[in-house]
Amino acid sequence: MDTKDLFALALGLTKPWYVTRNELDTAKRQLEIGIDFERGGTFPCPECDQAGCKAYDTEERSWRHLNFFQFETVLRARVPRIDCHRCGKRPVNVPWARAGSGFTLLFEALLMTMVPHMPVAAAARLLGEHDTRLWRVIHHYVDQAVAMRDDSAVQRVGIDETSSRRGHNYISIFVDLDPPRVLFATEGKDSSTVSRFAADLAAHGGDPASIKEACIDMSPAFISGLGESLPAASLTFDKFHLTKIIGDAVDKTRREERSEHPELKGQRYALLRNPDTMSDAQLDFVSDLLLRKTNLKTARAFHLKLAFQDFYRQPRVAAEAYLKKWCSWATRSRVSAMVSAARTIRNHWHGVLRWFTSKITNGLLEGINSLIQAAKTKARGYRTSRNLIAMVYLVAGKLELNLSHL
Ligand SMILES: [Zn+2]
Repeated sequence: MDTKDLFALALGLTKPWYVTRNELDTAKRQLEIGIDFERGGTFPCPECDQAGCKAYDTEERSWRHLNFFQFETVLRARVPRIDCHRCGKRPVNVPWARAGSGFTLLFEALLMTMVPHMPVAAAARLLGEHDTRLWRVIHHYVDQAVAMRDDSAVQRVGIDETSSRRGHNYISIFVDLDPPRVLFATEGKDSSTVSRFAADLAAHGGDPASIKEACIDMSPAFISGLGESLPAASLTFDKFHLTKIIGDAVDKTRREERSEHPELKGQRYALLRNPDTMSDAQLDFVSDLLLRKTNLKTARAFHLKLAFQDFYRQPRVAAEAYLKKWCSWATRSRVSAMVSAARTIRNHWHGVLRWFTSKITNGLLEGINSLIQAAKTKARGYRTSRNLIAMVYLVAGKLELNLSHL
């Protein structure tokens, strides 16, 4: 077996294709592999599969292949056009690449293995390619895999938004909670995002009327969108979002009070934490606050925060009575940020209590968001929302990419 046969084998070439030459250009650090087809060879029509079509004319083309050690490898071949009596003149499909791609299938498979784990810009540097060419490949495989998705079993979803481009644009993300995976990502954070999700769900064999539970933050847009597009869904307001509202109220109170009480300065993080994760110094600070500085609004706010966390530890039968008591305590506290947090909770009553039945949270979305945030800070490659959305599907969509030709 000579090296030409070896390359033919490695590329999976079958008749009439064969390797004509391989040339190593050490100056250009490039390996060029020439491929041709046997004289009189025939091809199936790429449209109708009609076998035995003869070449009508040819076009010279090249494809970037996997590196051969440090050498960039390029395949060059004459691609025949056949003249099918049904479909007319068409370039044939070559076995080593997708129609229209400038990369071989193996190169694309390598790229798709790399990009979930690194910024696309970094992959582009490693591979010595411009990232817009790589994005084109990524979109192809992601779109194909998303089109194959089966949503027929979806019943519980979580919805959240994330910002792209330093907070100027938003995308909304819809997640199947069982098992966790991104179903749909779309630009915007208004109520129309929910109707687009419902249409996408139906297009993938799902039924908007089968969605029984949805977990969201308190965004009025999502609340009204769900009412219109997923009418059977019971809303659960996300536990982490509620906990954050209460935590923000504590911090707001501390900031308002710290000019009169300088001991509150620099204690933001102590008050955001829970006692079981505090340092000794932080524990001393909050014990002092709770035991001896009870006249401070910040002390009452922190006490209310601890009590709110206990709300989620109540048995289901006791939860509503507990929340009523908490709200009336907060309302009488004369801590304005807590009065307003209690008002928010009263206005979203059923969805707050729904957690005790549904037990769903958007914790998973937070995980996805942190993946996306990490990638965004590294990647210049997310120039458009479309790229960001493709990356969301790729890292969190549990897609089955069709790389099966390997
Ligand atoms: Zn044909």
